[in-house]
Amino acid sequence: TNHSKTAVVTGSNRGIGNEVARQLCRQGFAVFIASRDMHDGREAAEELCNQGHEAIFLHMDVSDPLSIKNAVGTFSQKADHLDVLVNNAGILENAEVPITKMNVEALERAMTTNVYGPIIVIQDFLPYLEKSPEGGRIINVSSGAGSLHRMRTYAPAYSISKTAMNAVTRQFAACLHDRRIAVNSVDPGWVQTDMGGAHAPRPVESGAETIVWLATGAPLTETGKFWKDKREAEW
Ligand code: NDP
Repeated sequence: TNHSKTAVVTGSNRGIGNEVARQLCRQGFAVFIASRDMHDGREAAEELCNQGHEAIFLHMDVSDPLSIKNAVGTFSQKADHLDVLVNNAGILENAEVPITKMNVEALERAMTTNVYGPIIVIQDFLPYLEKSPEGGRIINVSSGAGSLHRMRTYAPAYSISKTAMNAVTRQFAACLHDRRIAVNSVDPGWVQTDMGGAHAPRPVESGAETIVWLATGAPLTETGKFWKDKREAEW
């Protein structure tokens, strides 16, 4: 693992994260399948290994700082640097409840998993991202729901958490740009997953595309931006 390109993808046991992991594997990365569920995570890693890829299960619940610390410890036994970190894990609950009726605990849960988790994951993996030979890349999977100009009543807790995630992206980008680490966030579009539902227009392959591009093909000078379909988008 020390000689190949390495990636950590949170919540990659299913959905968009799983497809991002698959595409990075195909590009020759050793991909750490970070999953809070032991069984699903192991199974997802095994499936990729059976196809000849280098996929390593990493147990990580992003809502639990100790679990993140332990995951970094396990990672450090298997790799000496990290090239790509994808903060993909996220939750969407009570989407139909407007903010007038929203329980603040629901906002707390959204913030814990969608914002505080990614912040701690970035902080804890920073020493390894700094050792990336070509410069580290952090991609935060956000959403169009976080865009302030949309002004919708749908999923307030989730939307607020994704707006915060975009702000977090800017903060990290400003701190890390002279350390050769690019930090960007992505709107994957409306994607066919458990979260997006069966009627979503995008298959996971296209939902993963811009994330994988930022992880591999995009210039490292692109940082602090919000992207959709490989173009900078307003939020
Ligand atoms: P899914 O619900 O299909 O998958 C979510 C993934 O996140 C699962 O692997 C889940 O793990 C994991 N996860 C949730 N909480 C935690 C946690 N505390 N620790 C570790 N992993 C966790 O969602 P998608 O694949 O659709 O979404 C991926 C990202 O894309 C999310 O951030 C989402 O907000 C964003 N997004 C999705 C859109 C869509 O249309 N699908 C649109 C815009 C943004 P487990 O299996 O254990 O539950």
